[in-house]
Amino acid sequence: MQKTVQLYEGKAKKVFATENPDYVIVSYKDDATALDGLKKGTIGGKGVINNRMSNFLMQLLEKEGVPTHYVEELSDRETVVRKVTILPLEVIIRNISAGHFAQRYGVEEGIVFDSPTIEFSYKNDDLHDPLLNAYHAIALRLATREEIELVKSLAFRVNDILKAYFKGIGVTLVDFKLEFGKTSDGRIVLADEISPDTCRFWDAKTGEKLDKDRFRRDMGGVEDAYNEMKRRVLGEQ
Ligand code: UDP
Repeated sequence: MQKTVQLYEGKAKKVFATENPDYVIVSYKDDATALDGLKKGTIGGKGVINNRMSNFLMQLLEKEGVPTHYVEELSDRETVVRKVTILPLEVIIRNISAGHFAQRYGVEEGIVFDSPTIEFSYKNDDLHDPLLNAYHAIALRLATREEIELVKSLAFRVNDILKAYFKGIGVTLVDFKLEFGKTSDGRIVLADEISPDTCRFWDAKTGEKLDKDRFRRDMGGVEDAYNEMKRRVLGEQ
């Protein structure tokens, strides 16, 4: 499959058209942003790690019956995915308090919830991705009631599958963000990426952070953390 024209350039990825109108090619960059775009930088090798890790996890989810956009890995940084219209909702699942949850509700990080939480935010950079509930999303016609119900059940299934998978490689899945898209034939599939950019991963034994929080919080060891996750998931240095 060949790239034709560039359709879009986002913060961490570029998207290209192909000869097939149902497929696009995603190309992962090393660029990183955080704190609502205020913090910018690069994380060496991140594009390769996120592309390969995300593809591995999407295939794992497909095997478990979760529909995804994944089609074929083309190279270290490039993947063919189904062309979708992204629902303008970020879907966040949390197993343990961290990040904005801890800030918003004035609690410490690390509280293990009895059951996972779900929240939505409106994907809109100008409005800084405001938090909204299902009623707001329906009122704003961002998705239908049926789509929201489907997205909710898929997101919790993804959590069950990923939590168990990461536990097996000594990693605690703290929280993560998912995006869903609609194909030309109207199916809802999991899209975007699953990577240390979009998940919080803590080492199960030491609690060490193995994700983008090291970049957000200027903790150092950012590349090492991404490489450690690559080693655990893909079994390589
Ligand atoms: N997240 C993301 N993109 C965003 C916001 C959050 O991928 O624009 C991920 C983030 O990496 C974390 C989870 O969603 O795994 C929950 O993030 P939170 O709401 O705590 O916000 P953050 O503190 O990451 O800005």
